[in-house]
Amino acid sequence: MPATGSANIGVVGLAVMGSNLARNLASREGNTVAVFNRSPERTHTLTSEHPEAGFVPSEGYDEFVASLAKPRTAIIMVQAGKGTDAVISELVQRFEPGDIIVDGGNANFHDTIRREKEISSTGIHFVGMGVSGGEEGALNGPSLMPGGTAQSYETLGPILQTIAAVAPDGEPCVTHVGTDGAGHFVKMVHNGIEYADMQLIAEAYDLIRQGTGKTPAEIADVFAEWNTGELESYLIEITAEVLRQTDAATGLPLVDVILDEAGAKGTGAWTVQNALDLGVPTSGIAEAVFARSLSSKRAQREAAADLPGPAEAWKVADGDADAFIEDVRRALYASKIIAYSQGFDEIVAGAEQFGWDVHKGDIAKIWRAGCIIRARFLNRIAEAYADDPSLVALVVAPYFRDAVAGAQDSWRRVVAIAAQAGIPTPAFSSSLAYYDGLRAERLPAALIQGQRDFFGAHTYKRVDRPGVFHTLWSGDRSEIETTPSSH
Ligand code: NAP
Repeated sequence: MPATGSANIGVVGLAVMGSNLARNLASREGNTVAVFNRSPERTHTLTSEHPEAGFVPSEGYDEFVASLAKPRTAIIMVQAGKGTDAVISELVQRFEPGDIIVDGGNANFHDTIRREKEISSTGIHFVGMGVSGGEEGALNGPSLMPGGTAQSYETLGPILQTIAAVAPDGEPCVTHVGTDGAGHFVKMVHNGIEYADMQLIAEAYDLIRQGTGKTPAEIADVFAEWNTGELESYLIEITAEVLRQTDAATGLPLVDVILDEAGAKGTGAWTVQNALDLGVPTSGIAEAVFARSLSSKRAQREAAADLPGPAEAWKVADGDADAFIEDVRRALYASKIIAYSQGFDEIVAGAEQFGWDVHKGDIAKIWRAGCIIRARFLNRIAEAYADDPSLVALVVAPYFRDAVAGAQDSWRRVVAIAAQAGIPTPAFSSSLAYYDGLRAERLPAALIQGQRDFFGAHTYKRVDRPGVFHTLWSGDRSEIETTPSSH
């Protein structure tokens, strides 16, 4: 029986994420960590393998709750969905007003909003917290995105600051993102951006491989070189490592023996579903999610394999490989800027819709270390929002405007070559199309409004005077004003 009230924090759920987070917590001075898992084997394994952590283990909820000092704080790291609800229900029955329950799983933020509403009437604080960085991050320092009340963050913040990743300037990668579901919403968009970033890198690799005939190991050198410049990021770094890897069994590049069907756990799809609900174009993320879906449609891909492509196979002309690779690098950077700009648009729209006071620059800062999308250029995003907190789109901030302007010729060449060569580049192409759509002085949306008015009397506005209008398409085609003008 553990000593009553001896632990200042507890972790429920000791699979890979919970175990590592518990070890991270225990390694920080001042923490005594209570641990509990539904199946006791995991608790036994963790405590016996890590006696140095001084864990306070429990075999039941009563024991676990009793082992926590008041006000009690427990972090849940279990399977998102029903598992989380089950644990919350057990804790709520035993916790008291002022205690804090943190859900660190990958919850859907709508669930987090619901749970917070249900629990807040008991006086117990409920905090939905995004945790990024996978198992390594959980152990050595994740990027943490807690939501919940400001009051709960007063207790939680100092603990989280000790376990979070540390950015190059020494700042811990944690901030109070906003109330109720804000933390899980921002984590969801983080994952969506991660999908886009990975897809863009994969397209860059494919273009270079098909265009230049370089081997994966040679392309690894290209990515390693890119990682010394403005593209420097964890994902570029690990791309080089993956491409350099040789399969022990066959001696082939590992990337050539991995089945080309990409999996997904759903947060990318959530990002796109919510973007659609919020009316925010996140085309880069959407194309990345769809590209994974397409890759997994084996039967359709086999049936389509003999559909005709370009008449001649394409290769970069001798001597042009370096210039082409530089074009791809620039196209990748420009497309990446669009993906992040779209992701931040979704965060802004979510904050407006759900009433969160989200600080965009702080979000960019807490993604600089610990998480999968950590990258040098997140500093540029933080600076852009610091310079202009009401920036309407990241891509129009001076630094990004210049970066995209400098890249656009390369970007257009790469997308045109890909189309002519029959190389699928959905994320590169859609990002460029978004950019051109955004900067267009006039869009064919005017024609769409005409069509809508024709078949559905949906009305339209005019460029030359206020009011709402409808054309009598089946009559004399005269125009009638359907609402009084504002003048
Ligand atoms: P997981 O495989 O998602 O979940 C396994 C854990 O959930 C086990 O401890 C299991 O207990 C527990 N569990 C499931 N249903 C339960 C229930 N009804 N009551 C009590 N416990 C229940 O574990 P994980 O990979 O460590 O991830 C934990 C959470 O972190 C998940 O929400 C995940 O989405 C999130 N996350 C994961 C990563 C990652 O890289 N893996 C990154 C960020 C966030 P038993 O041992 O008794 O079965």
